Amino acid sequence: MRLILFGAPGSGKGTQADILAKEFNLRKISLGDILRQEVKKGSDLGARVRQYMDKGELVPNDTVKEVIDANLTDDNFILDGYPRNRKQAESLDSILREKNKSIDAFIYLDVSRNIIVDRLSKRRVCKKCGINYHLDTMPPEKDNICDNCGSELIQRDDDKPDVIKKRWDVFLENSKGIFDFYKQKGIFISIDGDKKKEEVFKQVKEKLRDRKAILD
Ligand code: AMP
Repeated sequence: MRLILFGAPGSGKGTQADILAKEFNLRKISLGDILRQEVKKGSDLGARVRQYMDKGELVPNDTVKEVIDANLTDDNFILDGYPRNRKQAESLDSILREKNKSIDAFIYLDVSRNIIVDRLSKRRVCKKCGINYHLDTMPPEKDNICDNCGSELIQRDDDKPDVIKKRWDVFLENSKGIFDFYKQKGIFISIDGDKKKEEVFKQVKEKLRDRKAILD
């Protein structure tokens, strides 16, 4: 099965992608994570993309296409954070067409803006192992210390208020084009993402079952 997970920053895409990947044995391909690792490693690619990421802007499509080409090696996968605009959707379509493959479902996690701002501004991430926390709903046992590896928790630069606003604007600007693209293909699924993660997952599963993408 091949899925795309789409939603605003902070919509819970990463969490749902992890759950879906585990449940259906899919490789999770998170473009944001791949790019952040490149920045951390200090690679050439990292140096090229950093300026955009720090400002909350999208990295240019050509660069993104390179990264996706190199990572789209498995048969079954879930894409988290890609494609994010119509141009990227078109390029993905042509990459897959060359391999005689297609996407089974485009899943949109629809989350209210106030919930997004709360989630992002209170998100903390372990600087070593990358696990996410939320100061109110999923706090670490000890303030500012990762439960998993004991390293310090930090706030991502792009989770600061002015960058959150920019990322939201970028999301709104790009949604319509990509929605139209996948609606035309008949594989668009919309999910109420304001609910708890278990409930969101249940909805995703039901809709995939309705579409016969999964059988059980
Ligand atoms: P994320 O963790 O998915 O919110 O992504 C963090 C940042 O990585 C974004 O604000 C962009 O700068 C960059 N990025 C992630 N995915 C894409 C994409 N599909 N196209 C362009 N830039 C991206």
